[in-house]
Amino acid sequence: MSKKVVVIGAGVSGLVAGIYSRLAGFDVDIFESHSIVGGNCTGWFRKGYYIDGCIQWLTGTKKGTGVHEIWQTCGALSGDTQIYNAEEIATTIYEGRTYHLYSDLRKTEQAFLAVSPDDKAEIRKLIKNIRCFQNLNAPIEKPFEDMNKWKLIPLLWKILRSGKPEKKTEYMTIAEYISEFKSPVIRQLLACVFPTVMPAYTLFYCLGIRSSGDGGWPAGGSLAFMERMQDRFEELGGNMHTNTTVDKIIIKENAAVGIGIKEDDREVLADYIISAVDADMLLSKLLEGKYPDEYFEERFAAPQDYLLLTGSYVSLGIAADLAKYPHNVYVRPEKPFRLNKTELKDFNVKIYNFDPELAKGEKTVMAVLLTEDEIDYWKALKEKSDHAYKAEKERLANWVTGGIVKVFPEIEAKIEMSNVATPLTFHRYCHSYRGTYMSFIPSGYVKKQVHKGVKDGIKNLYIAGQCTFPAGGLPLAAIAGKFAAQRIAKAEKKKG
Ligand SMILES: Cc1cc2nc3c(=O)[nH]c(=O)nc-3n(C[C@H](O)[C@H](O)[C@H](O)COP(=O)(O)OP(=O)(O)OC[C@H]3O[C@@H](n4cnc5c(N)ncnc54)[C@H](O)[C@@H]3O)c2cc1C
Repeated sequence: MSKKVVVIGAGVSGLVAGIYSRLAGFDVDIFESHSIVGGNCTGWFRKGYYIDGCIQWLTGTKKGTGVHEIWQTCGALSGDTQIYNAEEIATTIYEGRTYHLYSDLRKTEQAFLAVSPDDKAEIRKLIKNIRCFQNLNAPIEKPFEDMNKWKLIPLLWKILRSGKPEKKTEYMTIAEYISEFKSPVIRQLLACVFPTVMPAYTLFYCLGIRSSGDGGWPAGGSLAFMERMQDRFEELGGNMHTNTTVDKIIIKENAAVGIGIKEDDREVLADYIISAVDADMLLSKLLEGKYPDEYFEERFAAPQDYLLLTGSYVSLGIAADLAKYPHNVYVRPEKPFRLNKTELKDFNVKIYNFDPELAKGEKTVMAVLLTEDEIDYWKALKEKSDHAYKAEKERLANWVTGGIVKVFPEIEAKIEMSNVATPLTFHRYCHSYRGTYMSFIPSGYVKKQVHKGVKDGIKNLYIAGQCTFPAGGLPLAAIAGKFAAQRIAKAEKKKG
């Protein structure tokens, strides 16, 4: 009889873990507390509009890369999946003129030099920094501890040969880095790539990957991407249990032997358990705080060095065909917005006009991701009253709308939907610590170490999820899921 693997959480990591475990011949059950799979990689419908809640750019859309192989194996991408690679990554309209940041680095270099010859030295260095990440192809074959050193050497050599970004950028955030440019146009364009609180290397990484033709958008977006993975898992004979919250991992004689289900107080026994949930959920809830983990504790204790990314997500539904508009535009509203202790000054608005599966005729969504860590404030409002919480969301939506209308006045009369998700929303749906959607992004001051994927002192428990793999995101969550399944297959082989 096949051994049984239970996976907790049906985000990207849990689904990849489930699929690879099935492929290795295990009986697999995935338990997911939400009514749908996907976790942070999701989308939802409001007033006839589809709001995509995740993918801005996806590593692994390029054929031949390791991550692409995972997406293919898991059914998330197939030969039929249309991929859209934006030629213009960001746009700003400055003093009446329109400027772009391109995926083609030569074009970007020329455009930047034309707009600001005074920044020539910085522009040249920027392009060099980006090129360091251009050919990065994550090693996905097996967990690093099982990698043959003869395979590791060429990999390390390739990384070394690609060069390292400038030393000074190692310790900078994106905001600090872009402030070195004299031109406001360049600063605005570079601010549209990633939340600017992130380390500068993530900016180079993103632009490097995208300039190499990876980092595209899969047609249909995040929801369809995850549904295809669920289909693949079920076609392989895996059992998916949505609306089912795991409230504990049962430990007997230092081994994980099953899980407890919250909804009906049931216990499910298993030979192996994969946790594909947030680190706080695993340590504080599922393991009841009884099994500390040095790796995670070090990270929770130093958020300045291991960034936990969270924020609010504001979407607008516009009753218009915006096909001719750019895809990602810098916006600076008239006045900053004060959200409790956080001051928001500017943002980039993503216009979902590039995928015909989403932009259906006269209906287009615009969405803005605002970085803020005010979950306690949102919680206090919600506890005060639903009205207070909704009123603050509305105030935020109005500020965002005002900023966008300043750039595109013609859409004002056509806005027929607005929707705000706060860190509290992310927490409610994904049970992540403080509503974080990317966790433990390491600054330049700390090592970019990976969690070993097992829990010392508890046999048969394996840990996946983006929290185990800096700096998180879909591809690394997926690799963590694959490695968890491979570690179990290896452990089983040893026993057999
Ligand atoms: C707005 C936004 C934009 C993003 N853009 C990008 C992007 O462009 N590119 C990119 O690579 N990444 C992006 N990300 C990040 C990406 O979504 C995450 O890195 C990834 O989805 C994390 O996957 P995961 O499986 O590790 O965790 P999660 O997605 O958090 O999945 C964990 C799952 O476990 C479930 N769960 C938790 N506790 C329990 C329990 N006790 N019992 C049962 N189930 C439980 C949760 O409901 C959830 O479904 C973005 C995220 C957001 C929110």
